Order: sequence, then structure tokens, then C-alpha cells
Amino acid sequence: MSKSNTELLKTKFMQLMVITMEECGELIQECSKSMRRNDENHQPLKDEIGDVYCMIQLCKEYGIIDQKMLDERVEYKKNKLKKWSNLI
Ligand SMILES: [Mg+2]
Repeated sequence: MSKSNTELLKTKFMQLMVITMEECGELIQECSKSMRRNDENHQPLKDEIGDVYCMIQLCKEYGIIDQKMLDERVEYKKNKLKKWSNLI
């Protein structure tokens, strides 16, 4: 017998994934609102960045990713941004 979605959401991994998805969605929304308002200091943007950072920290605590992997990926992404943006 397969588990219902409600039962699946009781597992910590599923909760972690769903809440991370939700927080990423909220961050996307606040990025858009900040752009529309041309407001770099939009407090909800800062709040949602913090929420996503919290979920990334929890992903580390649950062993999905470790600091070494994150550091390597940050370097990889920064190199890409050097090519495709003027952010770095
Ligand atoms: Mg949030």
C-alpha cells in the first residue's frame, strides 16, 4: 500500500524539500516586488533571503550538502557570472 501525500510530508526530508521550495518561491516574489518598486532595501526581500539561507543551513544539517560542496559551487557560479554578468 502506498503512502498518502500527507503521510509522505511527515518525513523530515519531504518537509525540508517542500518548505525549501516554498521559501524559494517567496524569495522569487520579493525579488520581483523589489524590482517593481526599485527598492534595494525592501525589508521583505531581506526577510526572504534570510529564510532561504535558513533552509540552506538545514540542508547542511540534514547532510544533503556540506560546506565544501557549497564553497566549490560558489566558485563555479562566480566564474560563470564573470562571463555572463558584470556582478563580479
Ligand atoms: Mg519566507
